[in-house]
Amino acid sequence: MTAELAELRYEEATTLDGKHLPLWVNTAVAADVQRGQEQGAEGVGLYRSEVSFLVRDRFPSEEEQRQLYRNQLEAFAPAPVTMRTLDVGGDKPLPYFPIEEDNPFLGWRGVRVTLDHPEIFLSQVRAMLKANEGLGNLRILLPMISGLSELEESQTLIRRCHEEVLNEGCTAPLPPIGVMIEVPSAVFLAPALARNADFFSVGSNDLTQYLLAVDRNNPRVADLYNPLHPAVLSALLTVVEAAHTAGIGVSICGELAGDARAAPLLLAMGFDQLSMNAASIPRIKQIVRSLRSDDSDALLQSVLKLDSPEAVVDRIDHMMNERG
Ligand code: PEP
Ligand code: MG
Repeated sequence: MTAELAELRYEEATTLDGKHLPLWVNTAVAADVQRGQEQGAEGVGLYRSEVSFLVRDRFPSEEEQRQLYRNQLEAFAPAPVTMRTLDVGGDKPLPYFPIEEDNPFLGWRGVRVTLDHPEIFLSQVRAMLKANEGLGNLRILLPMISGLSELEESQTLIRRCHEEVLNEGCTAPLPPIGVMIEVPSAVFLAPALARNADFFSVGSNDLTQYLLAVDRNNPRVADLYNPLHPAVLSALLTVVEAAHTAGIGVSICGELAGDARAAPLLLAMGFDQLSMNAASIPRIKQIVRSLRSDDSDALLQSVLKLDSPEAVVDRIDHMMNERG
């Protein structure tokens, strides 16, 4: 990293005309907390809880989980820490919980698994709620939501856990419960989901893969995998508008949030936070600090008229080069 980028650590991610766009960090292991703090992350937009499950040979106990979650929450308090419930299946198999399927990406993944196995979900949520004791900065995020009933079922279980831990002496409040928008049906249902959720976070990795029908890990079709595809951009705009119409916040936590080309578009769409790997924060901060809202709005409007990802990339590069 250049010295210039390193120095941005203590500066705000604010545009030239004064619009603040908080940059949050994605975490998975304890070391990510420090990395995020070193880069000046203003919160955690995605804690991938499954990573602690993937490196073990059995499910961690409720108390083991509580300690892991406490470390993340405590390190950032009072800033928000968004903990995603277990997101296994698809490209994240749990060695001690084998799932055999012909088509894992369209199969038993994310919240589908945990709603079928409430004992796994309940133990994890109880651990999160207990870890939040005395802090209050926890937000719970649900992966792979494809419809309203999965949200409602998850909310019912989370409220049940909350009542249980209150009865056991815990005093932490019921945390905000958010939905990952990463399945195309959730884009179309965004207005209804937004009326029933506390926040949205867009998983642009899966959303791109499902909208374009391109396996995100298959090198043979890698050329077709492009989150700057007009269809993806249109979906992102729909989601932001639905969230804001319902009065809830919306962030983005897929790789697109840390993509330099995407930053002006995401700013203009109105995302409330961008959440990314710690290493991307300085570069994105530098870009945000070089932008003007009206330029970004104009770029977005012109990009939305284009019909290929190549044209979108060219248009963004042209604007960036013009500004130097
Ligand atoms: C995503 O799908 O964009 C996302 C953030 O989740 P993951 O990459 O862990 O599936
Ligand atoms: Mg995902």
